[in-house]
Amino acid sequence: MEEKELVIIGAGPAGLCAAIEARKKNIDVLIIDENIKPGGQLFKQIHRFFGSKQHMAGIRGITIGEKLLEEVEKLQANVWLDSTAYGIFGNRIAGVIKSRKKNVTVKAKAILIAAGAVENPISFEGWTLPGVMGAGACQTMINIHRVLPGKKALMIGAGNVGLIVAYQMLQAGIEVKAVIEIMPKINGYMVHAAKIKRFGVPIFLSTTILEASGKNEVEAAVICPVDQDYKPILKRTKSLDVDLICIAAGLQPLNELLCQAGCQFTYKPYLGGNVALHNENMETTIDGIFVAGDCSGIEEASTAMEEGKLAGIAIAEKIRKRKWDDEKLEVRNRLNDFRIGTFGEKRKISKMEIEKEYYEKVKN
Ligand SMILES: Cc1cc2nc3c(=O)[nH]c(=O)nc-3n(C[C@H](O)[C@H](O)[C@H](O)COP(=O)(O)OP(=O)(O)OC[C@H]3O[C@@H](n4cnc5c(N)ncnc54)[C@H](O)[C@@H]3O)c2cc1C
Repeated sequence: MEEKELVIIGAGPAGLCAAIEARKKNIDVLIIDENIKPGGQLFKQIHRFFGSKQHMAGIRGITIGEKLLEEVEKLQANVWLDSTAYGIFGNRIAGVIKSRKKNVTVKAKAILIAAGAVENPISFEGWTLPGVMGAGACQTMINIHRVLPGKKALMIGAGNVGLIVAYQMLQAGIEVKAVIEIMPKINGYMVHAAKIKRFGVPIFLSTTILEASGKNEVEAAVICPVDQDYKPILKRTKSLDVDLICIAAGLQPLNELLCQAGCQFTYKPYLGGNVALHNENMETTIDGIFVAGDCSGIEEASTAMEEGKLAGIAIAEKIRKRKWDDEKLEVRNRLNDFRIGTFGEKRKISKMEIEKEYYEKVKN
């Protein structure tokens, strides 16, 4: 068994920012990530970030990732790549398969779970055929592995992920036949919708998928409009000639390790579903187990970075028995500034409810 002061599971923006803050306070940090390169979602994001300048709008995800990695390297945090944390056991022990070969257990004074999110599936006739995949999986194949998962595609979902990935598919040379959205309006930013419309891709609103058809793989998608009660209008069904169907139906926090550690959860639809209860320092209901980023509620890379910083500072406080209140206040103010607008306000309220519920649970 190895011993570290802080083990961080997940080297996305949340995990890397936490490592940077903790290293600045001289905490012995180990970051674990299952990928061969750290950065989480950032290295798939070849587009310029949306949001405000303060939160790196206009900068590409890959550039943000590179800057964070440079800093982590400078501060000499230990990083284990190609390594999967498979369990959290009593007394803050993480079980890890290191470099895909060796089973190692690491005992820590604190564990931060920053494992990110998982894509929501939707099921329909033929959805298990090869050629049906999450939009995130398609983005990974194109932007990381440089593999085209198909030639003619249908994208399901007109939120930001669906729109951005549809555009990246076009950039990679895939013919996007349509984007369909069951809601009567586009949920993503208009700037992303406009980009794919300029390519001549239709966005069909109030429309759903009925079936992926094909013998051994996807050969067509059957789509149809829905009425105001979201019931398919079957007489207006049509078939699209595609070999790839991507699902962008939202994300939910990747909760398995938190669940296994015994953390308590609450349901918050504006944060992606079941979220581990955590306090203003990102500590869960299990002493010494912290959470940050998409894992603590689906938001954006900018909030993931700030939550990671907050967790890093709070963990250093706990380990060193010191206070860095001013630094934490600055981060919390930035998080508040970011959580504005229609979606941001709802997330801010959900986060406040989580904190309240945390104290109610901990008291009892
Ligand atoms: C298409 C798309 C476009 C986006 N565009 C923007 C944008 O413009 N602006 C913005 O602010 N946000 C954007 N986002 C959101 C942003 O990418 C995420 O909110 C952010 O990456 C979350 O960071 P994270 O550190 O919580 O998780 P992640 O970046 O997902 O990192 C988590 C890491 O943990 C690893 N991991 C998980 N489980 C384990 C385990 N058991 N053992 C080891 N490693 C593990 C994962 O492989 C991953 O590397 C976009 C997302 C998508 C999908």
